[in-house]
Amino acid sequence: VRDVSPKTLEGEERLEQSLRPATFEDYVGQEKIVENVRVYAAAARARGEALDHVLLSGPPGLGKTSLAHILARELGVTLHVTSGPALVKKGDLAGLLTALAPRDILFIDEIHRLSPAVEEALYPAMEDYRFDVVLGAGLGAQTMEMKLERFTLVGATTRTGLLASPLRDRFPIQERLEYYGAPELKEIAVRAARKLALPVEAAGAEELARRARGTPRIAIRLLQRARDFAQVEGDGKLTREIVDRTLARLEVDARGLDAMDRRILASVIDTFGGGPVGIDAVAAAVGEESDTIEDVYEPFLVREGFLARTPRGRVALPAAFAHLGRERPHGKQG
Ligand code: ADP
Repeated sequence: VRDVSPKTLEGEERLEQSLRPATFEDYVGQEKIVENVRVYAAAARARGEALDHVLLSGPPGLGKTSLAHILARELGVTLHVTSGPALVKKGDLAGLLTALAPRDILFIDEIHRLSPAVEEALYPAMEDYRFDVVLGAGLGAQTMEMKLERFTLVGATTRTGLLASPLRDRFPIQERLEYYGAPELKEIAVRAARKLALPVEAAGAEELARRARGTPRIAIRLLQRARDFAQVEGDGKLTREIVDRTLARLEVDARGLDAMDRRILASVIDTFGGGPVGIDAVAAAVGEESDTIEDVYEPFLVREGFLARTPRGRVALPAAFAHLGRERPHGKQG
């Protein structure tokens, strides 16, 4: 793996990387997607060809990057990792593309955040494996064509709707990752605990899984914090009691909502009469970016039946009123 993104990894993130599933066998859940990409990868490998470009979408922390790592390993090629915001100029992309060996994977995280110039330069690279370089300027400018090796682009995005259709259409393989169920998250937590040599009680792992917002990354972060509490305030074992205590300290409630989730719901209910209200108004009220609310918080609140998206805006559902202990206004249905 060549990490060409500029950020360096913090200790915590490094630990998360060490817990990353290395093979399809280690990758829990998302069975349909795994079955499909396994076939595509095996076929490409047997033909000695580069795998078709792959677009992975879904909320953060669901395993898009992990899947790219596994694909590279399965194909026996090098994975080159970067992200949309890191590719500022066309030249940044040129440097990456020309460094690719045949059939390598270029992983672009947050591909919806590419600049228009970089995105445009990506089209001929994806389609014809060429990169156009403009030499000089004005009347004397000349276009030089650079040949690239056949490679696979794996793009990751929170929502495919954020991509311009010319880009989206250039991905023959498109898969959408879904939130995980509690049994899968329990499995992920148990396996991670094993790697950390942390003893777990089934009830502890189950509770943690139930309250991890359907997201492996959150399950792992909660596990890391619970490990600290188990070590300092417990007997080193991940018990139900330790998990409860950890989640209380992190303000994660019984349904797995965190402080921001609750603030969003409270704002829709208390400030905007339960909605409908536009996302920007909610964002301003809670002091968070609209994009983050839409990508990170809202999909979970919608899935759990707390919030609905209607053409007129966001509406708090009865479950949200009940969860926050608010009276529903009279005369409102729903
Ligand atoms: P994304 O790229 O979608 O934001 P990542 O692939 O970085 O998500 O996943 C975050 C972390 O969650 C990984 O480091 C890994 O430890 C864990 N994880 C994600 N998906 C799975 C999975 N299906 N099985 C096991 N662990 C997973």
